[in-house]
Amino acid sequence: MAKTLRLILGDQLNQQHTWLKEVNPNVLYVMMEMRQETDYVIHHIQKVIGFFAAMRNFSAELSAKGHKFVYLKINDNKNKQSLTENLKQIIEEFKVGRFEYLLPDEYRLDKQLKDFCKTIDIPSEATDSEHFITERMELKKMFDGKKTYLMESFYRKIRAKHQILMQHGEPVGGQWNFDHDNRNKYDEKVPIPAIEMNLSNQEEIFEDINRAGVKTMGSVDAKAYIWPVNRTDALKLLKGFTEKALPYFGKYQDAMYAKNSWLFHSRLSFAMNIKLLHPLEVVNAGIAAWQKNKELIDLAQLEGFVRQIIGWREYMRGVYWAQMPEYADKNYFNHQRKLPQWYWTADTKMACLKHAITQSLTLAYAHHIQRLMITGNFALLAGIHPDDVDQWYLGIYIDAIEWVEITNTRGMSQFADGGLLATKPYVSSANYINNMSDYCKSCAYDHKKRHGEKACPFNSLYWNFHLEQRDLLGKNPRIGMVYRNIDKMSAEERQMIQEQASKYLADMDNL
Ligand code: FAD
Ligand code: SF4
Repeated sequence: MAKTLRLILGDQLNQQHTWLKEVNPNVLYVMMEMRQETDYVIHHIQKVIGFFAAMRNFSAELSAKGHKFVYLKINDNKNKQSLTENLKQIIEEFKVGRFEYLLPDEYRLDKQLKDFCKTIDIPSEATDSEHFITERMELKKMFDGKKTYLMESFYRKIRAKHQILMQHGEPVGGQWNFDHDNRNKYDEKVPIPAIEMNLSNQEEIFEDINRAGVKTMGSVDAKAYIWPVNRTDALKLLKGFTEKALPYFGKYQDAMYAKNSWLFHSRLSFAMNIKLLHPLEVVNAGIAAWQKNKELIDLAQLEGFVRQIIGWREYMRGVYWAQMPEYADKNYFNHQRKLPQWYWTADTKMACLKHAITQSLTLAYAHHIQRLMITGNFALLAGIHPDDVDQWYLGIYIDAIEWVEITNTRGMSQFADGGLLATKPYVSSANYINNMSDYCKSCAYDHKKRHGEKACPFNSLYWNFHLEQRDLLGKNPRIGMVYRNIDKMSAEERQMIQEQASKYLADMDNL
């Protein structure tokens, strides 16, 4: 019987997949580390290590169960460093009679594999990766013909459809959304839990990456690598989160605190995005922890967490498939500036950006509000080209895979889709940053000043952005207040703000 070749990509490490239920001697699995994937953007070193380590563990664990694997390491002589070239070679070498692959999450790979299948003379088939709760095109069908895609309506439908936190057709607790109970500034009296992250030694992979000459950013302690790269460690992280941090998750999910990068966040995005964990498994673990101890974990904390996964995560994937490939070229404000150099070095006097970027370079991690309201906020106010912003986010974060990165960056953070996803741009002056963090206390700039010496750049850039974009934003009812405030300012005040903003924009590398 002719052999079947099955491709598993680096973010498809789902051990529960139907494919892997039984050992079939006629099936050969292939996994490959490739320059095609390490080089399409400059990735954080921890991200490249994380992918390779998790892939190597996955193939080793399944080989031990009897599955047959061809695994190409980055420095293998036979490795042609291209997905299709490697596939062609393996099909020929092993006299493969049929080719199967799991549906990729990225448009780029989806297209590459579809095109490849047209060039081979053996039958081929794509199979679902059995990871997401919704289907690729479910959101598109739901919002067919609509100008905006409302996350809240999507979230409610999916919760009802899958009976998650539902009772007699109603949301448990009588309301869908507990956002008003959440979003507090961090209170130092509440201890931040130390959640154990199993450290692993990744020196060998680090060495392989260096030997291959892959260009990366950020730093790593390869002897004590922090991210989960097998299912056991991912489950351990999930357990630690639900037991220790979930009780405060919703309440402090928007808080920023200079002394701690994790606060009450789960750090589970990487494990989920490479499919070590299934989103329903994560949600159910949260629900089980809540059921076990409702005194410790109130419903608002749990709902806040469930919303991130059943809501935002599935929603972003739906938007991606509804909008690609056109989405990747959206630039509503026609922004053209380049990202300042300090996005790669953290060498800036602005304390908020220094913290968020330093942490991103050392951990490959920043939580949602740091990404949205610090680095993303600055990039939008400064008029940076969305391509530049995307490349940075796609490279720096451990969890960055295009389907979830581009929708968050170009859509939610940069409003480059003109409001398909967000009802108004997520921008703020220093006031919000000072309210939600302790960053301003140690800053060289004065968060109260709009212009003059030491005036915080977020202030003049915030007003300047709205002044410059009045044609595009002036009629948006959600920002009517901003324009009413602008209209109340004296002409002289407006001029001073704009002069200050121009000065900062002309010398961004030195802010
Ligand atoms: P927690 O705060 O513990 O949240 C729990 C889980 O909810 C996360 O693990 C994640 O799976 C999910 N989640 C929460 N918010 C979102 C969201 N907006 N979209 C999708 N899933 C969400 N997330 C990525 O996984 N990859 C990215 O490349 C990515 N890029 C982003 C870029 C920008 C500009 C912004 C504003 C957000 C981005 N996010 C991205 C979403 C979010 O910031 C991360 O999922 C989160 O910070 C990961 O940390 P955590 O696991 O501790 O999350
Ligand atoms: Fe950031 Fe401005 Fe506050 Fe400094 S003063 S930390 S630049 S918001």
